[in-house]
Amino acid sequence: MPSFAELGLSGPVLRAVTKANYEEPTPIQAQAIPEALNGRDIVGASQTGTGKTAAFSLPIICRMGLSTRPQCLILEPTRELAAQVEDQLNLFAYYKALNVVLLHGGVGYGHQIEGLANKPDVIIATPGRLLDHLEKGNIDLSEMKFLVLDEVDRMLDMGFLPDVKRIIDQCPKERQTLFFSATMPGAIQTLANWALKDPVEVEIGERRSPAETVTHAFFPVGMDQRDDLILKLVEKTGFESMMIFTRTKKEADALLARLKEIEGTQPTALHSDIKQSDRTKALQGFRDGTFNIIVATDIAARGLDISGVTHVINYRVPENPEDYVHRIGRTGRAQQEGDAFTILTADELEQAAAVEHYIDQKIERKKLEDFDYNYTALLDDKPAKPRRRPSAPKRRRR
Ligand code: AMP
Repeated sequence: MPSFAELGLSGPVLRAVTKANYEEPTPIQAQAIPEALNGRDIVGASQTGTGKTAAFSLPIICRMGLSTRPQCLILEPTRELAAQVEDQLNLFAYYKALNVVLLHGGVGYGHQIEGLANKPDVIIATPGRLLDHLEKGNIDLSEMKFLVLDEVDRMLDMGFLPDVKRIIDQCPKERQTLFFSATMPGAIQTLANWALKDPVEVEIGERRSPAETVTHAFFPVGMDQRDDLILKLVEKTGFESMMIFTRTKKEADALLARLKEIEGTQPTALHSDIKQSDRTKALQGFRDGTFNIIVATDIAARGLDISGVTHVINYRVPENPEDYVHRIGRTGRAQQEGDAFTILTADELEQAAAVEHYIDQKIERKKLEDFDYNYTALLDDKPAKPRRRPSAPKRRRR
């Protein structure tokens, strides 16, 4: 692996990387940084937690000159991801004056308009709020030279692709575009073909495989005992920090109420019905250890970089196998060990088989000792037939 200095980064950026305690580049950084420094467009597929943010931020900071208008636009699917990228960018620009503005929904316009008036170099935004500002004439994109489209598959899932296209249409044609998506279904490939010029492809590992440091298990149970099992699992697991994913906001709220009754847990929740200031507090508190459990819907939590998560629990088997990989990507990040537990009920056998088929790995069925199971048929571990997924992209090997 080359060193950061060998990748061609400028002095102030190298010093910031050292200050961030990064010793050597991750594979995606080693591949993407030299190409991006040469001005090439990049299409990158990479598992979460692989250092993607630095892979696009470091070369852009190096290449950015002086201007009175924004030079770089970074689009992110969620507010939390946008805020996380802002934090990292400020860290990498420690030795280079860089004015960054963060634009997302759920908060007032006043502060953002002030930020835009302050001649930002970089705009980090979610698509909806950015379009609002563009429509109001608050933003001048005429000198925008760098466009980053991050977590594009999540933007597709959230229905943002039309907004993203409208935004790209307003950007100058002469620009460098860096495009990241964990999966590449047809709609995303089409967008990439349209938005990028002769891109370099950067792909790290197999797109579908979860981090190798994660231990997976299904915990089969009757539907009526799902909550009891999860509470027992939380009680019996020696976790330091745990993320629990639910399908719905209602499930998240109900589970949070029950978790609060367990001694030694400091749970909080993250979903889109919670007001922005409380979402920020929940995330901040989970990061700094004030909370040791966060119950989140997938949409709210996707892509967030939360280090040191020791356990992930899926309240239900995710409906899309891709989501399974994304969710358990929260643990086992940066080569740490992690555990991922998924509660499995009889109505979810097809989804479970689809997940196993997708990740090409059999997931062990486990039984919780000292739990009084009403129904044990599922524990027999009969292989279910994989569900056919005609829309799933073909597995690509490097
Ligand atoms: P990301 O995939 O960009 O969300 O990054 C995941 C985590 O890895 C973040 O906490 C980064 O600060 C960290 N990270 C990124 N690159 C490196 C590196 N070269 N060395 C050590 N940590 C890194």
